[in-house]
Amino acid sequence: MLVVALTGGIGSGKTTVSQLFEAFGIPVVDTDIIARQLVAPGEVALKAIINQFGSAILSADRSLNRTKLRQIIFQNAEKKAQLESILHPLIRQEVARQISALIAPYCIVAIPLLIENNQQGIANRTLVVDTPESAQLARVTLRDNQTENEVSAIISAQASRDERLAAADEVIHNDGSLAELKQQVAVLHQKYLIYSQTS
Ligand code: ADP
Repeated sequence: MLVVALTGGIGSGKTTVSQLFEAFGIPVVDTDIIARQLVAPGEVALKAIINQFGSAILSADRSLNRTKLRQIIFQNAEKKAQLESILHPLIRQEVARQISALIAPYCIVAIPLLIENNQQGIANRTLVVDTPESAQLARVTLRDNQTENEVSAIISAQASRDERLAAADEVIHNDGSLAELKQQVAVLHQKYLIYSQTS
């Protein structure tokens, strides 16, 4: 099956674009959801994380303390690599399992940190949602109740627009209205239907 990786920065519009593809009947595999399920209490990934980082990584209710984990791996490349070596193979495995169960001409795999984590190999094509930083800031501060400084810090820790665009097979420019966004998805949907016949 043709597999299209969907990526973009925080607040670029990935979720909105996913929903527009779903409205055309195209299944979306969400790696954020998979990553969260993998570290649920009792799951093997959580056990591996506890082995690596110690049980201090758990909250009082024995679930993973994600904030603590983020703090540990932030600016510690070695610990970040250790965590990724636990999670990435399991995420890839689960993505492949979900894709194999799908019946559709093509599917979307939403991978927010595709470029940062060098995961292009997961898909046949890379679709980037490209959005000016000013729009990301405005949309995320409205959506998540975060300050502009907090959102700016997240944006600068992520890949740059140029880095993403360099990896893109297709680009959605989300700097206009929702109607314009929908129109771009409609055009891409037709394109992917054609590609799916030869893949
Ligand atoms: P992401 O999943 O990339 O973080 P979202 O799809 O959640 O981004 O979009 C961020 C916010 O901006 C959401 O509240 C969404 O409804 C809104 N949004 C996305 N695209 C547009 C647009 N073209 N016009 C207005 N609001 C938008």
